[in-house]
Amino acid sequence: MKHFMEPFGICAECYCEKAELRFREEKAEREGALLRLERVPYHICPICKEETYDLDVEVFVEKEMEYFMKNNVESKTIDVGAMFCVNSNTMEKAIRTN
Ligand SMILES: [Zn+2]
Repeated sequence: MKHFMEPFGICAECYCEKAELRFREEKAEREGALLRLERVPYHICPICKEETYDLDVEVFVEKEMEYFMKNNVESKTIDVGAMFCVNSNTMEKAIRTN
């Protein structure tokens, strides 16, 4: 079963429970082909500013990057946020406050 990201998470550094959901973009390039991983979710701590990544998300991003670098695949874009976030309300909220 897939694990979903919550709007708030626990900071890995100071254990603050109000680490907010944010999104970033990851890119990889190989011989003119471009892999874009959009809306990679993570939690940022309001106190210590530590960025906490979900293990499932990290593994997914790593696998996609590795596959892309080792195989002769064309440019592609993956919406990671859509795969790991509960619903669009959660996403919109996070994007608005970003
Ligand atoms: Zn913290």
